[in-house]
Amino acid sequence: MNISIHKFGGASVKNAEAVRNIANILQTQTAGNPCIIVTSAMGKSTNKLEKVVAEENEDKARLELEKIAASHISVANSLELGPDFTDEMWSLFTLQNHISDPDARYDATVAIGELASTRILAEFLKLKGYDACWWDVRQTIKTDSRHRFARVDEESMKELGEGMMSLLNSHKVLVTQGFIGEAPDGSTTTLGREGSDYSAALLACASDATEVNIWKDVQGMHNADPRIFSDTVTIEKLDYSEALDLSYYGASVIHPRTVKPLQNRNVPLFVKSFINP
Ligand code: ASP
Ligand code: MG
Repeated sequence: MNISIHKFGGASVKNAEAVRNIANILQTQTAGNPCIIVTSAMGKSTNKLEKVVAEENEDKARLELEKIAASHISVANSLELGPDFTDEMWSLFTLQNHISDPDARYDATVAIGELASTRILAEFLKLKGYDACWWDVRQTIKTDSRHRFARVDEESMKELGEGMMSLLNSHKVLVTQGFIGEAPDGSTTTLGREGSDYSAALLACASDATEVNIWKDVQGMHNADPRIFSDTVTIEKLDYSEALDLSYYGASVIHPRTVKPLQNRNVPLFVKSFINP
């Protein structure tokens, strides 16, 4: 099976139009081959959810969370996902104050962003006739208990991918979350801010994928941030060690932990523009 991974960051799922754009990209880019879609939380949702965690006044925190829920529901409504879906969204955005450990509470709260964005995308793809299904990545990305910056045993990814792979036998498109995982005690963990690229690499290992595509608002890897500098050049091709160096020295295009697992398995990584596929 030729499986490809497509990772979409926050900017590429930020509103209804962006979600529709993903459906179009899939149509032209996957040629009907099985693929795993990994997405971040919509737009700046993770930052907003962090504020909910930091808010000590419970009523204010609940209000903040309701606002974030409402913006997701408004996207779901624009995509015509229906009233049952709206109920599901409301119940997903629940305050996690029953969790006493602050870091575990942080993870359980910010994870809502990825759970919600992937539910919306999966539901929309189904509505558009894709053979898509939603996967809870916490069943595949098993981590240690270091909340907020959990570690993964990369060697065990193949084995952990089995459940996900059996689902991919009966569906063409699997939609799942970046950034989140599960600790041995069953609590939700996260891999560190901007960790979704790393999730995409881990899922490539889990599925023996032949390629990873990271969809961004920039056209490939540049020698400097093109949103800040006007005279940057696109780097056509890099080997793994150059990509690793660049990502460690601040090229924010890919998360530093992403490269190593791909290098170990010789999986190519493509940086593509969702604005101009
Ligand atoms: N949503 C998470 C963040 O904003 C993970 C990611 O975007 O990669 O940090
Ligand atoms: Mg993000």
